[in-house]
Amino acid sequence: MKITGAKVFVGGPGKNYVTLKIMTDQGVYGLGDATLNNRETLPAKYLEDYLVPALIGMDPRNSEDIWQYLYRGAYFRRGPIAMAAFGAIDMALWDIKGKLANMPIYQLLGGKSREGAMVYAHATGADLEDLMESISYYLEQGYKAVRVQCGIPGMPSASYGVSETKGDVENYITDFSGIRPKVEIWDTDRYMRYMPGALAEIRARFGPDLKILHDVHHRLLPREAAEFAKAVEPVGLYWLEDPTPAEDQDALTLLRQHSTVPIAIGEVFNSIWDCNKLIEKELIDFIRVAVTYAGGITPVKRIVDLAGLHNVRTGFHGAPSHSPLSMAAQAQINAWAPNFGIQEYLVLGTPECDALFPSEHRLENGLFHVSDAPGLGVDFDEQEAERYRYKPGSHPIVRLEDGTLWNY
Ligand SMILES: [Mg+2]
Repeated sequence: MKITGAKVFVGGPGKNYVTLKIMTDQGVYGLGDATLNNRETLPAKYLEDYLVPALIGMDPRNSEDIWQYLYRGAYFRRGPIAMAAFGAIDMALWDIKGKLANMPIYQLLGGKSREGAMVYAHATGADLEDLMESISYYLEQGYKAVRVQCGIPGMPSASYGVSETKGDVENYITDFSGIRPKVEIWDTDRYMRYMPGALAEIRARFGPDLKILHDVHHRLLPREAAEFAKAVEPVGLYWLEDPTPAEDQDALTLLRQHSTVPIAIGEVFNSIWDCNKLIEKELIDFIRVAVTYAGGITPVKRIVDLAGLHNVRTGFHGAPSHSPLSMAAQAQINAWAPNFGIQEYLVLGTPECDALFPSEHRLENGLFHVSDAPGLGVDFDEQEAERYRYKPGSHPIVRLEDGTLWNY
C-alpha cells in the first residue's frame, strides 16, 4: 500500500481551518487538521513544500515510522508550526488505519472506557451579572462544566476571554479585520482584587455541583499566581488554567507550596519534552496539549500514558480554532484514555461547518459521544471547501497601562 498524493486546504466558515487529505493507491484516504490559530498559512506551507513530497510512495500503515521520520528527520524540530504539520499527517494516517480496520480509532487504542466524555464550554460576560447569564445559558444546554471569564471593573479594556458587549454569550477571539492586532490593557492588581470574589459569587449562585474552570492565560507572576490560587481555594474550582507564563515551569513549585487548587497547563506545549518534568514532579493536575500542535495521536498517546502514571488527567485544548478533525482525534483518545478528565469544546456545529465536515459525532447533555464510523469519523467535502478562502486575522496583544508589553 502506498501514499499517492496529498492536498492541503486553508479556509472554512469563520475560521481558517488547515485540512490535509492524504490519498492512497487503494482509494482509502485520510484527513488531518494542521490549524495553527492566526498563523494558518505556515503549517500549510510546511506541509506542501517539505512534507507531502517526502510522503509519496510511503506505506501509510507505518504511522509510527513515518512520525519518527518526520520528527527525527527534521534537525530543527519541534515548535508549533512543524508539530501542527506532523499532527495533521499523523491524524490522517490513523484515519486511514481505522478505515482499513473498519474500526473507529478508539478501538485501535484499546476500546471505550466511558460512554460519553465530559466537555466544558466558555461562559463570558462584560461584567459579572452578564457572565452569570452566560453560565445559565450553558447550563440550560446541559453542560456540567463551564470556564468562566468576566470583565474586571476599572480595567481599561476587556481582558482575555471576555466579550466587550453585554449579552454576547459566545466569545470568539480572532479579529478578521486584518493582521495588525488590537491592543488590550491589562491590570494585574485590579484582577487580583476582583476575580476571587467574583468566582465565590458564581459558586454561591450555582451551587456545589457546577464544575467551574477559570483561565488566567499566563498573566500572573509566580508569587501573584500563588496568592491568587490560595485566594480562590474555597471556591472549589475544577481547575485553574495557565496561572503563570508557560516557559517558567519552576513557578508551579511555589504555587504548589501555597495551594491545593487543581492546575491545568499545556495548550501551548508541542511535545512530551515540554511537559514530562511537570508531569513527573506532579506539579499539574491536567495536561492540556492539543493533538494538532503536539504532533498528532501517536505522540499525544505517549503523553497521556505518562500522565496516567502520575495521576494527571487529560483536559485537551479545544479552542474554536481546532477543526472538527482534530476535535474528532481528541474524542477518539478521550473515549479510550483511562485518565480522561474533561475536554474543552466549543460547539462548531453551524450548518456551514457540518456541511464542510460531515460526521456522526454528537454532543448531548454536556457529554461528547464519539461516532462509531471507521477512522476519525469525520469526512471533508471538497466542493464545499471551494466556498472558502484564507482570511487574515489576529488575536489581540496585551500591554500594561504604562505601555509595557505583557503576555497575551
Ligand atoms: Mg486556555
